[in-house]
Amino acid sequence: MNTPFEFAYQALPMRVVMGPHALDRLADEIDRAGLKTVIVLCSPEQEELARTVAALIGERAAGIHPHARMHVPVESAAAAAEHAAALDADGCVAVGGGSAIGLGKAVALRHGLPIIAVPTTYAGSEMTSVWGLTEDGVKRTGKDPRVLPVSVLYDPALTVTLPAAVSATSGMNAIAHAVEALYAPDASPVIDLMAEEGVRALAAALPDVVADGTDMEARSRAQYGAWLCGACLGATTMSLHHKLCHALGGTLDLPHAPTHTVVLPHALAYNQPATSKAVAALGRALGDASDPATLLWELAGRLGAPRSLRELGMAEEDVDRIVEAVLCNPYANPREVTAEGLTRLLGAAWSGEPPAA
Ligand code: NAD
Repeated sequence: MNTPFEFAYQALPMRVVMGPHALDRLADEIDRAGLKTVIVLCSPEQEELARTVAALIGERAAGIHPHARMHVPVESAAAAAEHAAALDADGCVAVGGGSAIGLGKAVALRHGLPIIAVPTTYAGSEMTSVWGLTEDGVKRTGKDPRVLPVSVLYDPALTVTLPAAVSATSGMNAIAHAVEALYAPDASPVIDLMAEEGVRALAAALPDVVADGTDMEARSRAQYGAWLCGACLGATTMSLHHKLCHALGGTLDLPHAPTHTVVLPHALAYNQPATSKAVAALGRALGDASDPATLLWELAGRLGAPRSLRELGMAEEDVDRIVEAVLCNPYANPREVTAEGLTRLLGAAWSGEPPAA
């Protein structure tokens, strides 16, 4: 350590219950939060799980709203908020991935209803006070402490149905949060530790998860990593990688987690020369500090995950639009972001080449 410590760290008031059978604690968590009746929110595909959850908490469940959609369209947020009000619910239980938890956040934002989150992917939304709402194809995001869940239950049994392909990209999405936390303008030593451990846990667990989705021990390690990476997202400001994915998702409607998976090695390769601390931490987490960006690209390959924007449906001509969208909105990044650099980065990500050294 050659420079003195200098940071500000704001811990978020999060409560986490993790482990096999964590879901059995849901009724206790609802009581602990002082809630009487909750609305259970989920995506249409997770309706059966939501019914199981509702049955588990008995009369504490006022009803189920199985209509969460990716990126929280405002109409879907309004319908959920109205349903919650009609049921006279005083809280929400959001069961599922970032879409279900995002819907819970929209209801919390409108009515101030506390959220208890039961995540079933590795996206990490449950650890942040960031909300998102999409109107006329434009996604707005903001921060509000009311949307941070009061309690989060991580039960690995709920992730065994997550297909290998979704597990792989969702896990890489989580790793991206930790990578950018390591070079965030508001990084801190506590978050550095969480980021390094989160990447270590996920990078080791994901190949086992993809090989056998019912391996509860691997699922548990992946969920532990996802929690840490989500906490990093909640505590820091994201940079180039997240801005690129936001622009690709918002402008071209590319799928969230696969887009993160493809872009991450390229965004990291771009930033590596300007962040020796992140390279060292990722090197410790991945077992080799020479070039973490290439190691993550190889990991995506081993997981059978997509490695090109082309295979996600992006046209090569759209590279210029994305460069423009990213450049018109300046933000903190360890390395200066130039049109030329971005064009090269996106060109490699589009065609699926290894990240540039
Ligand atoms: P998602 O919630 O849409 O889930 C992805 C897919 O997995 C869906 O088809 C879903 O039905 C399926 N799925 C979920 N759990 C499953 C299970 N246990 N078994 C089988 N299938 C299951 O997507 P996501 O990647 O979890 O989240 C992405 C969304 O979350 C985006 O809108 C993103 O912007 C948002 N997000 C927000 C934050 C934040 O801090 N606000 C953080 C991360 C992600």
